[in-house]
Amino acid sequence: MGQLSSLKWLNRFLSETPGDSQVSGPPRQVPNACWSRVLPTPAPDPKLRLWSEEMAEQLNLEKSGADVLAGGVPVEGMDAYAQRYGGHQFGNWAGQLGDGRAITLGEIDTGMEVLEIQLKGAGKTPYSRFADGKAVLRSSIREFLCSEAMYHLGVPTTRALALVTTGEDVMRDVMYDGNRELEPGAVVSRIAPSFIRFGSFQIHGLMGDNVTLKSLLEHTVSNHFPNSDVKNDDEILEWAKVVAKSTAEMIAHWMRVGFVHGVMNTDNMSIHGLTIDYGPYGWLEDYNPGWTPNTTDSTHRRYRYGNQPQIGAWNIARFLESISSLMDEPERLREVLEFYISTYEKSNDEMWAAKLGFSDFQEADAELISELNILLQKVETDMTIFFRELCHIDNPDISKLKFAFYDEDSIPTEEWNLWMAKWWQRVQAKPNREVMLKTNPKYVLRNWMAQLAIDAAEKEDYSVCEELHNLLKFPYEEQTEFEEEWYQKRPEWARNRVGCSMLSCSS
Ligand code: AMP
Ligand code: MG
Repeated sequence: MGQLSSLKWLNRFLSETPGDSQVSGPPRQVPNACWSRVLPTPAPDPKLRLWSEEMAEQLNLEKSGADVLAGGVPVEGMDAYAQRYGGHQFGNWAGQLGDGRAITLGEIDTGMEVLEIQLKGAGKTPYSRFADGKAVLRSSIREFLCSEAMYHLGVPTTRALALVTTGEDVMRDVMYDGNRELEPGAVVSRIAPSFIRFGSFQIHGLMGDNVTLKSLLEHTVSNHFPNSDVKNDDEILEWAKVVAKSTAEMIAHWMRVGFVHGVMNTDNMSIHGLTIDYGPYGWLEDYNPGWTPNTTDSTHRRYRYGNQPQIGAWNIARFLESISSLMDEPERLREVLEFYISTYEKSNDEMWAAKLGFSDFQEADAELISELNILLQKVETDMTIFFRELCHIDNPDISKLKFAFYDEDSIPTEEWNLWMAKWWQRVQAKPNREVMLKTNPKYVLRNWMAQLAIDAAEKEDYSVCEELHNLLKFPYEEQTEFEEEWYQKRPEWARNRVGCSMLSCSS
């Protein structure tokens, strides 16, 4: 195991794609570039607060380097940069966005794969627009804990290595209502094969810059998609299908565990089909497909839980448009969109079959699943607890599942028992419990759990963060010693609390 300073850095993104000639500098448009070199801003008093041992082991890193992981100390071979990208935000083309508060330090060859280390919150870049390039402790804790939890749930995601507080306060207006407050600043170091997004292609495609678009495409495919090539229409189509497939599968996983991303703008869609940019995300507690945690989206609820698969298709369509100028017959890209839809449907069918303990999915199951979806919404029902308790049922009686209901007296018992009987018959009284227990987690990062960790950390107590970090490494294990504290429905205090049911993009 070595120190950060002894790592050998690769800088393929910088050497293989066109960039900016100026280092750092003011916020500005950077035409024809994929990146700008930047100097991270040193933190006045960096303190290492959270550390992912497994991630460090994978990178062959010793626990050290709070100063480097807060961005202030360049080490040999490191060539930090911010990526340029664009994006559709809430359905509208927003032009150039880019890494406004993210800085990539470089790539590390772990021997197994090449991974990038990126800091979130280490200061301004040419893409910071009107904002400060900083991140606050609460949102950094949310990203650290949730990306690690998602990884252990088996959901494709970027990962977190460390969380460092900077010793500097940052001004934020949490609910955009004019109430500005100083909050502690922090930097999360996060890890992924790359941070290339749909929007990375869009910025060149929509600006009509085919030369840069082509070089980004070639860089991406040659470094990150070893089984693909993009020399002609057939190859581009096949590669785009790989992107569509991983995106569809990622979203099916979100639906399985009740995760709501909250800001599925095309700049927040990873080309690798990884969950990226943890902002105002949330977890379904009562099963309500219309729910979104993001108050910025409360009118149209574009990014609500139940809309995520369709938004995935919309985003894939924008991505396909952005590379269409590189095709001789761009209309063939429609095939990729259809492929996204059929891949999602297949993943979704398999997901429901696994959640309900069927050996496989059959056409007739669609009705049973649709009836279940209606029933789960009749009265307030906890998604995670319902599916977890269902794994243990030995007789089809809804009263065995009453722990999942917020108000036990309001359970529509007759309707439920009809459904339970049909389900029991379908599984022939032998649900595949082993698969169910691996599909229906017992512990997820409920909104109020993250909030309790944040409340403690803001008083310099990181023990709740540590406890949740450890608990969520084994989300499918019973861990009975933690039941009383964490295997619980949303407490009343969290129903309408900012940070639990309401979150904004302000981070
Ligand atoms: P997000 O909604 O987090 O995906 O961010 C959308 C865009 O705003 C991206 O280009 C971010 O880099 C940028 N951004 C968000 N917060 C900040 C900040 N505090 N400072 C600079 N840029 C930011
Ligand atoms: Mg983003």
